[in-house]
Amino acid sequence: MRGLMMDRPLMISQIIEFAAMNFPDQEIVSRTAEGELHRYTYPEAAKRSRQLAKALQALGVQPEDRIGTIAWNTYRHLEIYYASSGMGAICHTMNPRLPADQLIYIVNHAKDRFIFVDTTFLPLLEKLHQHFPDVEGFVVMTDEAHMPETTLPRVHCYETLLKAQDDDYRWPEFDEHTASSMCYTSGTTGNPKGVVYSHRSTVLHAMMVLSISGVPINEDSSILPVVPMFHVNAWGVPYFGLIAGAKLVFPGPKLDGPSLAELIEGEGVTDAWGVPTVWLGLLGHMRQTGSKFTTLKRTLIGGSAAPRAMIAEFREKHGVEAIQGWGMTEMSPLGTVSIPRPSMRGNWDKELEIRGKQGRLVFGVEMKIVDSNGQPLPHDGRSQGELLVRGNAVVSGYYDNPEANAKAFDSEGWFRTGDVSTIDPDGFMEIVDRVKDVIKSGGEWISSIDLENEAVAHPELAECAVIGVSHKKWAERPLLIAVREQGSNVTREDVLKFLEGRIAKWWLPDDVVFVDELPHGATGKLQKAKLRDQFKDYSLPTE
Ligand code: AMP
Repeated sequence: MRGLMMDRPLMISQIIEFAAMNFPDQEIVSRTAEGELHRYTYPEAAKRSRQLAKALQALGVQPEDRIGTIAWNTYRHLEIYYASSGMGAICHTMNPRLPADQLIYIVNHAKDRFIFVDTTFLPLLEKLHQHFPDVEGFVVMTDEAHMPETTLPRVHCYETLLKAQDDDYRWPEFDEHTASSMCYTSGTTGNPKGVVYSHRSTVLHAMMVLSISGVPINEDSSILPVVPMFHVNAWGVPYFGLIAGAKLVFPGPKLDGPSLAELIEGEGVTDAWGVPTVWLGLLGHMRQTGSKFTTLKRTLIGGSAAPRAMIAEFREKHGVEAIQGWGMTEMSPLGTVSIPRPSMRGNWDKELEIRGKQGRLVFGVEMKIVDSNGQPLPHDGRSQGELLVRGNAVVSGYYDNPEANAKAFDSEGWFRTGDVSTIDPDGFMEIVDRVKDVIKSGGEWISSIDLENEAVAHPELAECAVIGVSHKKWAERPLLIAVREQGSNVTREDVLKFLEGRIAKWWLPDDVVFVDELPHGATGKLQKAKLRDQFKDYSLPTE
């Protein structure tokens, strides 16, 4: 017998209309690209999103068209999220820090029809736009008074487009499996891979986050997503925050310690979400000025391992609960959070050990660890294996990328995370290594293989390996380990100079170490795990 319940589609547009109706005076505060604070209410956000949907229609945007964004976390970016997805188009957020060749690739691979851009990133687009033959126009996310001079062709002003429309618009209803947004993630090598979220997966993920006991988000919350809106939809904050009726506080371009501290205190922020690097800056500022948080209750730290010292400092100096979360772009992103069970609380040292793990499952995600033959390993806290996941907000295939898809799933359809972990009998997962050859610096990926390929092009280097070495500020930074050609006296400085200009500046290795030979396995494969072990305590000169 089938259940006799209605089958209503889960639509992103429902979120903003629900929020506007239920929380009519709740605020959304943003630091804008121009610097000042902007504030308005949920109903105003909903009204302007409807106006923007009409403006998109007036530009000729059709369902399934890709709307690119290169933008900070602000209210206008939020409006683009809702307007583009809500009308049936696809919001494609892009990371402005990507190397130029990767940005060019993803704009063309996604087939973006329009790109919305904050004034800060105009120079970037002025340099690259001739590589985007299919982009019909660019919308600068500002008003007429702040519209800069630009050499960018086919340019529109955001507020001018909005002004031309009223908000008499009804969101269409369509299949909940329709694509709503996309986000590219950098892989081990080659071009980034596109993850395409659906209305259903986005709404389900938002509800999953709100079901985590221990992370209460509600009308009394004031939530600051420091995690960028171009990185997995700011971990879902723009969706679940509105369902919960929380005040949203967007930091715009100012992510330094003093600016974040000012925003947290000024806007009564209770919950702040971001990567360890930003919290390091914030805690450093608090230390230097001797200040204390008066409103902040929780931070959710993810994207890279949260250092135990950071979790301890939040709690011991500020009474703030720091919760580690783990997830991936491919998982919408949340998979686990580390909140000790009630029976584990009381002894802070023990609690800290648990909080240092990546945590227990969020409802709606399943995980397993497997050995090299794909056989499941026990949850004994000791057995280490590759971590695989599945769930309704987990990727089922990368966009138009059969090569990546052939490797990404096991025979039962579970997604390979590329992380190596243990799972203890209480269900807490801990990441111990990575099988994917990438380095995560300040929350963003660097491909070690791409770096090695560039470095080995140096005529005096015979072989190169790049590994991630732990770094206090950036979590990890690249270390280049190289074998010189016979008779060569090439120096660290020569190699770094050679790499300059060939790779994005922030990819430049923090140090170069010369060795006589690199470790290889029986098949000749470079043994990165051995190198990582050998250099695990390496102290980088940039620390
Ligand atoms: P991204 O898709 O850019 O969000 O990156 C996802 C990857 O970041 C994961 O597969 C992990 O390798 C890493 N990661 C995310 N959160 C954590 C965490 N809490 N601890 C350690 N690594 C993490």
